[in-house]
Amino acid sequence: MLSSILSKSKCAECKFCCVFRRQSRWETPLFPKEAAASLSEKYKNAKFRPVGDMFTIDIDGEYKTDDPEEEAPCFFLDSETGCMLSEDEKPVDCKIWPLRIMDKGDKTVIALTPTCPEINKLPAETVRKLVENGLGKVIEEEAEKNPDMIKEYREGFPVLSELDQQII
Ligand code: SF4
Ligand code: SF4
Repeated sequence: MLSSILSKSKCAECKFCCVFRRQSRWETPLFPKEAAASLSEKYKNAKFRPVGDMFTIDIDGEYKTDDPEEEAPCFFLDSETGCMLSEDEKPVDCKIWPLRIMDKGDKTVIALTPTCPEINKLPAETVRKLVENGLGKVIEEEAEKNPDMIKEYREGFPVLSELDQQII
């Protein structure tokens, strides 16, 4: 969804958003129940845990220390080639990252994750226009179907768009 502004080759070199610090486990992507069941069959090492009506990867057992900065990769990350999932299998959270739909208390917003090195090289206006010109609507519709993907707002995430409706 962000291929017009994020190059595949840069992402293949980076892979930052497919590796999770212990303190950033709230960022792990959500999968619908059927997708989690199917991927558990296909990738025997993959573990999932429920989040509301959806499922996310359960990487708790992958950390070796209590260090909040320790990192563990997603089960579907190949260190050479990147994400092993097909476009159909890849969760919406990964397709829209580094955008996030978030609950800001009195409103639902679309915000930018501040840690993506590539997107943060672009003018904020470029990303904002992409959201205004259709991508924001796509994200809103996905969140209406799966409200569990709406994260609690965190300080430091620039807000790109405020939705007309509050979804949760
Ligand atoms: S953090 Fe940004 S640049 Fe890095 S892989 Fe993810 S989307 Fe691509
Ligand atoms: S599902 Fe794929 S894109 Fe998403 S975090 Fe895992 S490896 Fe990365």
